[in-house]
Amino acid sequence: MSKLPDRLARLLRSDVQGMHAYAVQPSAGLVKLDAMENPHRLSPQLQRQLGERLGAVAINRYPGSRLDDLKAALHRHAQVPAGFQLMLGNGSDELISMLAMACDVPGATIVAPVPGFVMYAMSAQLQGLKFVGVDLTPDFELDERAMLAAIEQHQPSIVYLAYPNNPTANLWDDAAIERIVQAAPGLVVMDEAYQPFASRSYIDRIGRHEHVLLMRTLSKFGLAGVRIGYLIGREALIAEVDKVRPPYNVSVLNAEAALFALEHADVFEAQAADLRAERGRLLERLAQLPGVQAWHSDANMVLVRVPDAARTFAGMKQRGVLVKNVSTMHPLLARCLRLTVGTADENAQMLAALQQSL
Ligand code: PMP
Repeated sequence: MSKLPDRLARLLRSDVQGMHAYAVQPSAGLVKLDAMENPHRLSPQLQRQLGERLGAVAINRYPGSRLDDLKAALHRHAQVPAGFQLMLGNGSDELISMLAMACDVPGATIVAPVPGFVMYAMSAQLQGLKFVGVDLTPDFELDERAMLAAIEQHQPSIVYLAYPNNPTANLWDDAAIERIVQAAPGLVVMDEAYQPFASRSYIDRIGRHEHVLLMRTLSKFGLAGVRIGYLIGREALIAEVDKVRPPYNVSVLNAEAALFALEHADVFEAQAADLRAERGRLLERLAQLPGVQAWHSDANMVLVRVPDAARTFAGMKQRGVLVKNVSTMHPLLARCLRLTVGTADENAQMLAALQQSL
């Protein structure tokens, strides 16, 4: 509970006072492989060019037409079909909050498979909506029957399908997705945060259904610090959701940095290709570690099960490598750690630390 004086505690939401803040682990001095960041920095030359671009931005004005330029650039980058519109968020986290804000309360429900990305539940709680998490199967596949039953029972305003999912790193069965989309009475949001590492995207199917939105972010592409997320959908639908967006939610500096990155998309795409190759090597090495079970990944993370997650997590940290201990997030994740795919060097350090900490 909060440490507020009674006078304030009485006035602020008690459910919020009972919540935990989104946790960011301290990482100073550690090999940081806990948050699915792209480990590659820009070359010194590109970094300098970026600095010049940012230096020329008029920061005295509110964000204006540069955001339209960014939307147009993202439209091209994501190969969004004609007739679809795009809105920007300060990271996709903000889009998730805005979507919850746009739901008709009271009584609205958000449904998502669990374990999944925590912001779906958190945004529901903050907006006073109900969140229904539907357990995955023990091998982390969608439980289609349970999803359809939850949709039938709760008639959710939003169904989230992270494609690929966090922290299990897998894509869902496409036929199951299609049946879930057809059964959903409200919005279905395909969250493609990990699209740069995935073998499939929903983008070529987005035209099929008017109630499907596709959410993307530049975070995993290599701009986690810049905070640009975007939501793609039919114009009429985006126009409504856009009404809850706080004015000027994306900074001119962020927009300029994102535009710069998109002009150099080939650099980031090469980094993503390198990380996909590293992921393959990492999975091969993990398969040879006795006592470690690793799952296939379509993202820049690998979920592993070890004999004792708390011991291994602490041991790895002691050896200078920070990963994410997800073992208490959900019963299906018992003894699991989530490893972000890093550079070849970082992955070698991570594997050595993991092996020594089992
Ligand atoms: N969706 C999923 C599935 C995620 O895992 C994350 C972040 N880890 C996000 C969305 C949020 O991304 P951002 O706010 O950085 O765009």
